[in-house]
Formats: sequence, structure tokens, C-alpha cells
Amino acid sequence: MTQFVYRFGAESTEGDGSMKNLLGGKGAGLAEMSRIGMPVPPGFTLTTESCISYGREQGFTEAVRQQVGVSLQWLEEAMDCRMGDPERPLLVSVRSGARVSMPGMMDTILNLGLNRETLEGLGRRAGSRRFALDCYRRLLQMYGDVVMGIKASHAELHNPFEAILEEEKAVEGVDIDADLTESALDRICTRQEHLILERTGNPFPQDPHEQLWGAIAAVFGSWDNDRAIQYRRIYRFSDDWGTAANVQAMCFGNLGETSGTGVCFTRDPSTGANEFYGEFLMNAQGEDVVAGIRTPEPIERLRERMPEVHAELLSLRTRLEEHYRDMQDIEFTIQDGHLFLLQTRNGKRTGAAAVRIASDMVDEGLIDESTALARMDPEALNIFLQPAFEPTSQAAAEERGDYVGRGLPAGPGSATGVAVFSAEAAQHHVTRGSSVILIRPETSPEDIQGMHLSAGVLTARGGMTSHAAVVGRQMGIVCVVGFTRLDIDLQKRQMQCGDHVVKEGDPISIDGFTGDVYACAIETRPSSVMEALLTDNTTEERGSLHQMFSRIMGWADNARRLQVRANADTPEQARLAVALGAQGIGLCRTEHMFFEENRLPFMRRMILAETPEERRDALGKLLPYQRGDFEGIFRAMNGRPVTIRTLDPPLHEFLPHEPEDQQILADKFGLNPAAIAKSVERLHEFNPMLGHRGCRLGVVYPEITEMQVRAIIEAACTVISEGIPTLPEIMIPLVSTRAELENQGELARRVAEEVIAERGVKVPYLVGTMIELPRACVRAHEIAEVAEFFSFGTNDLTQTTFGLSRDDSSRFLPHYVDAGLLPWDPFVSMDVGVQDLVRIAVEKGQSTRKNIKLGICGEHGGDPSSIHFCHQVGLDYVSCSPYRIPIARLAAAQAAVGDE
Ligand code: ADP
Ligand code: MG
Ligand code: MG
Repeated sequence: MTQFVYRFGAESTEGDGSMKNLLGGKGAGLAEMSRIGMPVPPGFTLTTESCISYGREQGFTEAVRQQVGVSLQWLEEAMDCRMGDPERPLLVSVRSGARVSMPGMMDTILNLGLNRETLEGLGRRAGSRRFALDCYRRLLQMYGDVVMGIKASHAELHNPFEAILEEEKAVEGVDIDADLTESALDRICTRQEHLILERTGNPFPQDPHEQLWGAIAAVFGSWDNDRAIQYRRIYRFSDDWGTAANVQAMCFGNLGETSGTGVCFTRDPSTGANEFYGEFLMNAQGEDVVAGIRTPEPIERLRERMPEVHAELLSLRTRLEEHYRDMQDIEFTIQDGHLFLLQTRNGKRTGAAAVRIASDMVDEGLIDESTALARMDPEALNIFLQPAFEPTSQAAAEERGDYVGRGLPAGPGSATGVAVFSAEAAQHHVTRGSSVILIRPETSPEDIQGMHLSAGVLTARGGMTSHAAVVGRQMGIVCVVGFTRLDIDLQKRQMQCGDHVVKEGDPISIDGFTGDVYACAIETRPSSVMEALLTDNTTEERGSLHQMFSRIMGWADNARRLQVRANADTPEQARLAVALGAQGIGLCRTEHMFFEENRLPFMRRMILAETPEERRDALGKLLPYQRGDFEGIFRAMNGRPVTIRTLDPPLHEFLPHEPEDQQILADKFGLNPAAIAKSVERLHEFNPMLGHRGCRLGVVYPEITEMQVRAIIEAACTVISEGIPTLPEIMIPLVSTRAELENQGELARRVAEEVIAERGVKVPYLVGTMIELPRACVRAHEIAEVAEFFSFGTNDLTQTTFGLSRDDSSRFLPHYVDAGLLPWDPFVSMDVGVQDLVRIAVEKGQSTRKNIKLGICGEHGGDPSSIHFCHQVGLDYVSCSPYRIPIARLAAAQAAVGDE
């Protein structure tokens, strides 16, 4: 019989930490902690399979009911309490937990088992009826919201349960929940019970078993709520995973001043420093700490308040890290001086912290280098490359009095953008090309979409472990939280702090390194790591970001097999690419060079030429420019291979379409403007993407290829004569047949040999092709006979495989992904069909030329999951934009480590 229920605690633990798929992350963590003897309140986990079965059967099966019944009885014995017992009532929490943590997506209910009768018994046992009422009102609120579905109506601003609480606090003249008197809590409970009856027509269920099943049903049901579905879309989690539900005996942090609850990270999640890090609240329960209702105290203060508990927590911290060999994010509760752990998981961290922690743990002997590499998120490296404020611009802002104040620095980086107060506004401004900063009193899971769009987020409430901070760090966005002096008015869409008023659409800047906020735009400058890389600064201060970055990159470079090249078109980009670790240029697009102001007229003259002589003449004017560009690039690359693609785009892209511009061109070269207009018309194409472009240009106008090859080889001769090694690779684009490449390849080799003979300099060079059409993939064995290398142009290959234009697909592609017709955007991560074509081309190419050099130069060359594929299929290198090079180096290393 399928086991749907697994126990943990009280020496009967059935599951363990490896069972995340079945028990969820939380359940597996509780089981593992129980196994290694951590103080965990006992309980049991309903598996993710029971959630799936619940969805399928539209209810609980007999097997599930029966197994829960048996385990509940076990729990009652273990706790020496019973559900519904008036004197010794068992109280439990029901907590959801999927296999990966989905912060705040699913719901948790505490204090189940309380009713009007058991509440009195709990009060008597604890010696405080006030405490029992506090538990009951929390249960009413959570159950009313999560299970009975009572939300704020349109007329209400706040959750109606909160409204009752706030009203009674006002009556009593107290600021915090913990100061409410027993009689106030009595009134609150009665009013909340009425609220439930009024809104739903049903009373709050007094039967503890009914409460329990209602809560489990709500947890399973929440797997399919909109927020959860949206979260899974963003992070590409499958809908079939389901969530587990944990039923756990309660421990109480709200039992007075010797009780409390808190959240800790075993290391600083923001910097990664090996310092215990956390926050707690005395006399509080559950989510009080992260909800930002009261401002929590730093964990250091616990040392003063309860030294023994603090010491115990520190020793648990060490044991947990030694056991998990990773930074942990833990939840704890102190019940009358006794410490309990309620959750542990690998802590979310900034990219910078991830690197520091991995690097420190290698030094501490906790993990090896491969593990360290496997643990880092390649995308998170962005944080090292992220800009900081330009000091002069920042000083000017301060001078002007635009400094607003300081919140908590929860996610590093500096961001400038337009202030927005909702996800809709964020969307609005982002579509118009602005970067936005999302400002909220506090963030909740509903804000995920808005945060996803934002460069930064600023909140008035909440600590370093608040929702905004956790999610912000994970997304790698700049994050400032807990700016308590901020007065945010969502109605007026503005924030105020002293004299500063920032309205929606106004500029604002936030510094996630320090927490500083400015009511203006501030220029940013490259990160310190970038600066060190660009100035080739090798005086590495120990512990500096740059030093750590270099160390990790060193490990990655040792581990990976794939080479990493850059797509770069100018000497400047080439230098940037080398600084970031490029081992060559995988794609140099020559057409970019023709758009520059001093060259475009000659390019146009060339296109308008009536005879090959006229064309050669104009090309002759372009040659020195082109040669100069190549010389600069070759020098910057200092012997690393440079793949240069011959002219690719359709010619009319270069021509002036406005009559005024046509007139200017006519004047310059003494041409007839009407003739120019006619030529423009003649060159018009209905579908330029599939038109006269790529090698088809060189086939019809061989002079173009001739000029480009001459420029390349002449430049190589010059640079080699200077003593700088140079390795050009001439790449013919958009080839679909062997004959095409033969035509262009022979031409290229002839010109190259001519130049080499003229100059008397030995130039090593290759001639190959871009593989970007399905026909080229399936006939790759023929093409490889004349190509010395293949470079997969997966942008065009994706377009032509799907018959899909990248520029027009935005109208329907997002819909396809949302509706699940495509698992992801094929222009971001390589589609499996495109992968198949690449695999075929690799195999066929190698069948006729064993050592053919293989690379990729489409956008996918910088996408970690596509890089994994490139590694597996056996390419020699990936090529991507310069800023993605470190990401690609790490992703390539992870792919290699994965093989071991
Ligand atoms: P989330 O996944 O949103 O963190 P949790 O299930 O961890 O939700 O629970 C929410 C809060 O309730 C946490 O602070 C947790 O520590 C607390 N909590 C859950 N179960 C218990 C329990 N049995 N006793 C005391 N506190 C609990
Ligand atoms: Mg939560
Ligand atoms: Mg939790």
C-alpha cells in the first residue's frame, strides 16, 4: 500500500532529508533534523502524492484518511495530549511545503485544535488565559482567511480581521499586539467569530478534526491558487509536483517574556560573512517576525536576554552547518526558555554572498571546489558586475539635498529608476523603456510580478529576513527594506519622508550596499570588480570582491572543457571581453562597422553601383576603414582566435528611405535622386529575413567578399608584423548548400593567398561557415568537406526551424509559454527541436571532417541551460556578449562537474 504519511520526531522518524520530492523541502528538513537529534516538535507529513491524489479525486481517499488517523493517534501519545481534550488539548500547525521553497506562496495555519472549550483548558495549563485567547484569535484569523476564504472586500483597505485588531488596539491605546489585555482579546475573539459567521454564513468549526481536515484541504488547494501558479511560471516549476502538508505539534513563542520566535541565517545572507545573522521577537508567534508588524531585534540581543538559549542556538548553528555543509536559514521558537527548531533549509543569498560562502567553506574544509562551483547560480554573478553610484553624481545629489535617508541594505547594487507603487505601474513604465523602483509599505507574494520587472525595491517595513528582502535577493535586484521613516500613500501614489515627496513617475535612486535612498536620478559606474578587471589590477586585497571573483573563476576555468568566446565588433568590446575572460571572439559582425557616419555614404555608393567597377571603387574606399577595425581587434585579442563574419544583412537596410536623405546622397556622389529612389524600391523585399542576405550577397557581388577578406588578411599581416600573433577565422553566413560555401570559400582562400603572397607574411587562417539553416544541419556532412569550422547561429536557426520571426513573435510567443504550449521562450533557451538539428549537424560534420572546430554564437551561447547542452553535444566553445562571459564560464564548469 502506498505510504501517504511519514512521521518525524519522538524517535520514530520515517523520512529523511533526501526525500524532498515526496515530503517537500520543509517535511524533508523536519525529518532530517529529527534524525540528527535537533529539538523539533514531533508531527507527520502528508506526501506530495497525497496532494496530487487529492486534486485528482477531488477529495481525500480512504487510505489517506486512515493513515492520518493512525499517525494522529501516535502524535497524541507522544505529546500526552488529545485533539479536543478539554484539559490537555493537542494543538497543531498545518504547514505546506513543496519540493522547492516557494516563499509565501502557500499557506500555514497555527493553533489548530482550539475551540471555546479547549481554549479554557490551554489557558489553565499555561497559567494564562490571555495567552490562550491570543492563540485563538490567531487561529480564527488564519483559518478565516485561508480555509474559509474571507478577504478584504472592495470597500475595505485592510484584512477585516486585522481591522478588528487595529480597532481594539486603538481602544486600548496600545501599539503592539503583545500589549493587548485579556479582555480586549476576549472581545477580539468574539468579534472575529461573528465576522466569520456573517461573511460565510457558517460558524467557525468547533470540531478540531474538522479544523484539521479543512486546513489540509486548504494547503493542498493552495497549490493551484493564482499566486502559486504564477510563481511556478516564472521559475519554470512543474505543476505536477504538488505540495506536501506537515502536521506538527505546536510550541508557543507567545507565552510571555521568556518566550519568543525568530529567523536566522547561519551566515550573513547579504555579504556572506561568517557571522550568525538573524532577528527575533519576544512574546510572539509564527510569522510575526517576517510580517514586519513589529520591528524585530537583532539576534545579538538574545545573548543579553537569554544567554543559555543564545549559546544553544549557536551550537545548533554549527551542527547544522556541519551536517548540511551549506548556509542554513532556520526558524526557531523559544517556549518558556526551551528552544525548538521549526525549519531549516539552504538559505537564499545574494550572488556576492553565494560566492563568499562557497569560497570560505572550501577553506573551512566543509566542501570541495566542485561542490562550491555546482552551488553557485551563474546568473547571480551579475551582482559582481553590477554598477555602483558614480561618486560625483552621488555627492551632487547630497549637495542638492536630495538625500532622503537610510533603510536596511538587503540586496546589493545601486539602482536608479522611476518610482512606482504597483505592479501595474511597473509594467506601464517598463514597456516604455524605463527602469523602475518598486516602492511598497511591505511586499507580499502578490508583488512578485512587480518585483520581477523592477531594478530595485524599497519598503518601509520589514527586516533583513522580510519577504521583500528574501525574494529580492533571489531575483538579484537591488533591495532596501525597513525604511521606517517613510510614509507611503498608495492612494495618492506617493511617498514622503520629511520634506521629500516622491510621486509615481519621479526619479529615485537606492543603494543596496548601504541602504541609502535619494529622491533623484544618480549616475552609476561599473562595479569595483569590473574596474579591477578593466585596469588589470592584480594587487588583490584579500577578501575583496575582486579577489573572490577571480578565485571562483579560476576554479571554473580549471573545471570546464568548453572554451568561452565573446561576440564583439569593436576593439573596445574586444578589450572588455578579454578582461572578462574571453578566449577569443566567436562572432564579429562586420556590418556594424558600415553604419558609422564616415563609412555609410561609401556603403550606399557601393550598393547603388551599376557595374562591378563602380562597386569595386566604392568598396576600395571602405577597405581602409574595415582594415583599421580589424587591426584594433586583432591587437586587443593578442593571438586569440577571431571569427569574422562576412556581410550578412540585406542591402536595403543600409539605404536612405527618406527623400531628403536620398537627395543628400545624390549630391555627394553626383547621382540622380530619382534613380536612387528607384534602386531603393528595387531592393525592397517582402521578407528580408529570408531574402537576399548572408552568403547570397557575396555570391551575387563577389567584390564584397573580396574586399572583406582582403581587409581581414591585410590587417592580420600588419599586426603579425608588429609581433602580435593573430588568428582570423573567416565565417560565411547563411549557407544552406555545399556549393554556396565552395563558391565563397574558394574566393576567400584565393584572396587570402594573394594578400599573403603580396605582403610576404605568414598568416594562419581558417575558412568556415555559420550553421543557421535546417538544410545546412541535415547536409552538414557535405558542407564540412569545405568548411574548417561550424559556428551555430542559433538565433536564425530557431527562426527558421519554427518558421518564426523573432521580431514579430512577441505578439503570441508569451501566450504560448503562459498556456504551456511551449515550455520556455526558444529565443532565450535552446528549444529541443533546435538542439536535435545541432546534434545532427555535429554528427554529420564530424563524419566527413573529424576535427572540425565547433562553436555557437547565437544568444544561447550565454544561457546556462543551453550551455549545458553545448557541453554535452561536444562543441569546442560558446560565444556570448561580453558581460555574460563570467556566467558562461561558470555554467560551462557546472556542466563539466555534472559529468563527474
Ligand atoms: P512558511 O513556509 O511561510 O515559512 P511555515 O510553515 O514555516 O510557513 O510557518 C509559518 C510560521 O509558523 C513560521 O514562523 C513557523 O516557524 C511557525 N510555525 C509553524 N509550525 C509551528 C509549530 N508547530 N509551532 C510553532 N510555530 C510554528
Ligand atoms: Mg508564509
Ligand atoms: Mg517557514
